[in-house]
Amino acid sequence: MADKLIMLTELRESLSQLDLPLKETATNLVFGKGNPATDILFIGEAPGKNEDLQGLPFVGAAGKLLDTMLKSIGLTIDDIYIANILKYRPPNNREPQKDEIMAHTPYLIEQIKIIQPKIIVTLGNYATKFVLSGCSVDKMDAVPGISTLHGKEKKVVIAGTSYRVVPMYHPAALIYDQRLRPVAELDFKNLKEELGQRTLGGY
Ligand code: URA
Repeated sequence: MADKLIMLTELRESLSQLDLPLKETATNLVFGKGNPATDILFIGEAPGKNEDLQGLPFVGAAGKLLDTMLKSIGLTIDDIYIANILKYRPPNNREPQKDEIMAHTPYLIEQIKIIQPKIIVTLGNYATKFVLSGCSVDKMDAVPGISTLHGKEKKVVIAGTSYRVVPMYHPAALIYDQRLRPVAELDFKNLKEELGQRTLGGY
């Protein structure tokens, strides 16, 4: 655990020195938060306004809903780790661009290699398409959308290690379209069962 925390801290420090796209217009680097020794890594899309101001992922409205959904299956941020595809906020929350994803995701892959989660939960289209493409930006467009893939577990090899990946609706989508809420709640319930049955530590 201490090693993972040290490695993540070092990665964050070296990342903060780089001139990545979007750095200039952002306020803070948004690296990740949670428990580095977790079995479950959540991956979101990009920091929003609140995340940019605080330098932490999922602290705004979407984060509050994610906390509620985690709580509903007996988890808190201390049981998971969460990071984004993009490490800096795109201006006015516009969609991530390919060159930005290409420049930022090598550091997400480093986070995955350090944490070595048993399950990766991808939130929304960008995280799902990136991870299920085998972390290949050029192949993202060939991956079906979240409305097809949500709740369906897949296996993906990242940097030589196989991971179980469960795509989920992004909490921001659930705020925007309330009709998706029951579907997402069911996906979370199924995730809980998966975790109970198959992770070593058991939750
Ligand atoms: N949405 C995301 O995808 N990530 C955040 O950190 C906040 C909102």
